[in-house]
Amino acid sequence: MTALSPVSCSIDLEAPGKRIGHLALPKITNTAGWASTFIHLGCVVNGDGPTVLVLAGNHGDEYEGQVAALRLLQELRPEQVSGRVIVIPVLSPAASKANTRNWPSGANFNRSFPGRPDGPPNEQLAHYLSTVLFPEADVVIDMHSGGRSAWFVPCSHMHVVEDPVQRRAMLEGMEAWLSDFHYLYIDVNGSGLLPVEAERQGKLVITTELGGGGRVPAPIHRLAWNGLLNVLRHVGVLDGEAQTRESLGLPPAIILDGRDPANIVLAPEDGLFEALLEPGDPVEEGQIVGRLWFIDRPDRPPLEIPAPLGGYVAATKAIPVTEQGDCVFCLGQPIERAALL
Ligand SMILES: [Zn+2]
Repeated sequence: MTALSPVSCSIDLEAPGKRIGHLALPKITNTAGWASTFIHLGCVVNGDGPTVLVLAGNHGDEYEGQVAALRLLQELRPEQVSGRVIVIPVLSPAASKANTRNWPSGANFNRSFPGRPDGPPNEQLAHYLSTVLFPEADVVIDMHSGGRSAWFVPCSHMHVVEDPVQRRAMLEGMEAWLSDFHYLYIDVNGSGLLPVEAERQGKLVITTELGGGGRVPAPIHRLAWNGLLNVLRHVGVLDGEAQTRESLGLPPAIILDGRDPANIVLAPEDGLFEALLEPGDPVEEGQIVGRLWFIDRPDRPPLEIPAPLGGYVAATKAIPVTEQGDCVFCLGQPIERAALL
């Protein structure tokens, strides 16, 4: 399938050792007729074991995973690895540099899968992942956060996939991040997601929502790093004993079920959003989670926005300025892990 792809890779991803190089996508500009866009990647290969693909910067303004993946590429040594770790620390470099979710073209990379070899650059890169890298991987880790727009309770999350063996592996992989919360999500906003394509190919897919809001507190950097390392130990590619919350003396994580679409609450009109609860706070059905203020109507009382369901607040809008139809918060209901097995 590689021959069909216009994307080339500058390094050997098979041979033992550690290498850092790049993928090259064709680029033609007014100042360079034969040019490439580089997507940097590296691999650490040693002996027998699983192939793990570590991905971050799918969305440009989600930096938590990008920093952890850059550090992994810097620090990981072949003698620590059984199998292969391939790291793409920033899938969307132009968006990362611009502090935007989407590519400068407007494309959302996480709606570009499975991609096309003759599509626009985002689809060419997605196609390379779908047809070259995913088929070789046993585990696909895709680190996200709320980006600038939202603060998501720091967590690992998953789709509840049909296949019970894959579902159990994904549940255990999600739990290996050791976050206080986990979240079960559905796709309410279009198709073409990276994790969905990897799941369709039967991979153990582990994804995160590590805060967001345009600021990365030090504890979030630590959660990104420690969670990533523990997941790599859990799947057997990194030496050392994997920890559990129990082994660390922590209470069980709370798994939130966000699969009821009513959990996603949209702004009924433009305004300034004031959150009254924090992500991670329990909430009762009907309780006011936030309210909208109107800058051109100081005489008008704020519009209170209630929780349509009880449970926990999972995310709130991080930027007060709100347009009609923006997600202002989302919720989830606690669920026992046994219900997912
Ligand atoms: Zn994202």
